[in-house]
Amino acid sequence: MNPERKVVCGGLISAETLRRYPFLEEFAIHHINGAVVSAGGEEIVVKRKNVAVVLDRTVMFRGMLERAASAGAELHFRRWEGGDGYLVGADGATSSLRPLVTKQKVSYVLGVQAELPWEGEEDLVRVDFGPWSDVFFGWVIPLGNGRAHVGLGLSLERSSEAKTRLKLYGKYLGLPVERFEARLIPVSPPLRRVAKGKVFLVGDAAVHTKASTGGGIAYGFRGIDLLVEAVEKGDPSLYNRLHRVSIYPRLFLHWLVHRFYNSVDLPSLLRSVKELGLEKELSKRGSMDDPLFLLSPVFLKLIPRTFFPSGRTPPGRP
Ligand SMILES: Cc1cc2nc3c(=O)[nH]c(=O)nc-3n(C[C@H](O)[C@H](O)[C@H](O)COP(=O)(O)OP(=O)(O)OC[C@H]3O[C@@H](n4cnc5c(N)ncnc54)[C@H](O)[C@@H]3O)c2cc1C
Repeated sequence: MNPERKVVCGGLISAETLRRYPFLEEFAIHHINGAVVSAGGEEIVVKRKNVAVVLDRTVMFRGMLERAASAGAELHFRRWEGGDGYLVGADGATSSLRPLVTKQKVSYVLGVQAELPWEGEEDLVRVDFGPWSDVFFGWVIPLGNGRAHVGLGLSLERSSEAKTRLKLYGKYLGLPVERFEARLIPVSPPLRRVAKGKVFLVGDAAVHTKASTGGGIAYGFRGIDLLVEAVEKGDPSLYNRLHRVSIYPRLFLHWLVHRFYNSVDLPSLLRSVKELGLEKELSKRGSMDDPLFLLSPVFLKLIPRTFFPSGRTPPGRP
């Protein structure tokens, strides 16, 4: 781990996550009041005051290291080369410790992002589905200083097109793209097992990422909470069970949402959201982190209206 590293991340977390982990306020740089979601010329706007916060992830990384050190952790800035005792694998998306815990295959999306000048709405994030992203979407996360994180997710087969695709999205937004950075995001069904023997996975290593959006901060912290709970109860192996009961079902739903938006006609889905008056419902009841709200009848009625027969590619998606 390099303490000087720049973290490539949108930095967006929900207000729910901020309430759970109030110390994150220290790294907050901007507050968000909603989102614009678009696909094929259709657009919905979901608004709720202070629904999310943008964190400075690079400052947060250093701040968390300092917190760990002042809580008594010994920091070693080198690759792990084996040893005795318990081992917490917090080694990111391509974790080299994950294979010690599970043989489950993990798939990835390439997260491509640039920081660009932004003159659009400062308090709304954008989620734009379109030809720039084959399995995900484009995003704009305003930073509150006339700049924004502008990014998109791509399948690994399309990774060589990262620059062209980001330029295409930039053109759609009216922004010139020169430089960009890219990192892997685990976008996969959740792991059934996150611990084995003395090895415990957390964060991206544990695939504690929401497959619907690629966000990994919220469940990364929740996984750590569960591991702490298991240790405090004197039985670290309890971590697997706690993960299966509280994180697994929610992450599995995020995976289903990812599969859903890749198999439906998104413009007609957004049209249905408007026709059924669900923009208001989303503003009131929607959650960035916990997708259980989608199982209420009011949202389930979207499924029969928009579902495509399997195997058919929705218009506008390559
Ligand atoms: C473009 C992009 C945008 C994103 N936007 C958002 C967002 O807006 N909101 C959100 O919630 N999430 C977002 N994410 C996801 C989020 O960034 C990750 O989920 C989160 O950073 C994962 O944290 P982590 O600590 O598990 O892994 P990492 O941040 O990858 O940290 C792993 C650390 O382990 C170190 N390491 C690796 N191997 C070893 C080893 N062998 N020995 C010692 N150290 C090692 C690495 O150097 C690194 O410091 C985004 C991701 C990308 C790529």
